[in-house]
Amino acid sequence: MNRKTQVGILGAGPAGLMLSHLLHRAGIASVVLEARDRDYVEQRVRAGVLEQGVVDLLNEAGVGERMQREGLRHEGIELRFGGTGHRIDFPSLTGGRAIMVYGQQEVVKDLIRARLADGGTILFDVANAMPQGFDTGKPSIRYTHAGAEHMLACDFIAGCDGFHGVSRQAIPAGALSAFERTYPFAWLGILAQAPPTHDELIYAYHDHGFALYSMRSPQITRLYLQVAPDADLAAWPDARIWSELHARLETGDGWKLTEGPVLERLLAPMRSFVAEPMRFGRLFLAGDAAHIVPPTGAKGMNLAMADVRTLAHALAGFYATGREDGLAAYSPTCLARIWRAEHFSWWMTSMLHRFPDDDAFGRRLQRSQLEYVTSSRAAAASLAENYVGLPFADLEELPHA
Ligand SMILES: Cc1cc2nc3c(=O)[nH]c(=O)nc-3n(C[C@H](O)[C@H](O)[C@H](O)COP(=O)(O)OP(=O)(O)OC[C@H]3O[C@@H](n4cnc5c(N)ncnc54)[C@H](O)[C@@H]3O)c2cc1C
Repeated sequence: MNRKTQVGILGAGPAGLMLSHLLHRAGIASVVLEARDRDYVEQRVRAGVLEQGVVDLLNEAGVGERMQREGLRHEGIELRFGGTGHRIDFPSLTGGRAIMVYGQQEVVKDLIRARLADGGTILFDVANAMPQGFDTGKPSIRYTHAGAEHMLACDFIAGCDGFHGVSRQAIPAGALSAFERTYPFAWLGILAQAPPTHDELIYAYHDHGFALYSMRSPQITRLYLQVAPDADLAAWPDARIWSELHARLETGDGWKLTEGPVLERLLAPMRSFVAEPMRFGRLFLAGDAAHIVPPTGAKGMNLAMADVRTLAHALAGFYATGREDGLAAYSPTCLARIWRAEHFSWWMTSMLHRFPDDDAFGRRLQRSQLEYVTSSRAAAASLAENYVGLPFADLEELPHA
């Protein structure tokens, strides 16, 4: 069967769904093709920190109501080292800005509900999706759905299909430059049925390695440990995980971590990656399809949202005026923000983790950096400004009208 739309979107993660929603609000039709089923996409627990700008974007786009009710506004984080906690206060350092702790899967649920309520089309369980013809004026996406072959004809394709998706790979070799760094460790993450015993995220630097204390709700704690990149989850029974978490997180003043049943465990590799440019002809890459950050700076989902805000604006400009200069500005506009977030994520990762080739000199440098960041207002303000998110690009200044 052949279908037709204005923008064909690959992937129903935060990037693809938000793009479809923003396009709809601009009067532009789209179809979202997703490889997994709805339940899988809605239950996939990943990121959980929303920058202030993303919170504002979700509210302005009419999909922030449940987030406002159920999300947890956080006005700081704690850096813990040497058995002592040091709080970074966001509002006083950033002119009143903060973050919202609200799970990525909840954002995804809200967006799917909004798209379907607005009569939008999201096809789940799509196989063999392949973007084609995007170097011509007639792009399309071939795909299999419910056992039959289909073709989606469109004006533009948005590749929002994540790091392992087909969109980036469909671009001819040599047209993209890839910049990559892998890290010699991974994160072992658990979700625990344990009420948080601290109100804000804790980033802990410890001789055994990094640990992160965070929460998803008043009942659920989310905890991470730095482990070897090839760690075997079987070698990490619950008792060992809790023992390491206690060792790395607890302070000299008697603060204790509360244990609870482990609901989920995962191993997340740590990688920095950027593909440039984020456009080839009429195919636009957005979110993880174009870039990855290590999760230490909590930037992955936030960058995906910033990308599609810019892309939706550029497409709206094109459909309103026929001019392509907004589309031409898409990749450079996004890449400026992406590289800032790449640097921040790399910097946080480098400051807080144990590296296998660290010597005593390197450890002293890390410790000095931590002491500086927690004692100098200027250094703390720099961390806070990046963490809550720099202001979005001023789209009114994009040359599209
Ligand atoms: C385990 C894990 C933990 C993370 N933790 C954090 C964190 O704590 N903080 C943070 O900021 N970020 C975190 N991230 C990163 C964050 O989740 C991503 O940056 C975010 O999901 C990017 O959204 P996206 O829409 O670009 O991509 P995705 O969410 O990956 O969505 C892509 C979608 O495309 C679909 N797809 C893939 N291939 C195809 C295909 N061929 N055809 C059709 N559909 C396809 C996928 O099923 C998926 O639904 C984490 C990521 C992982 C993997």
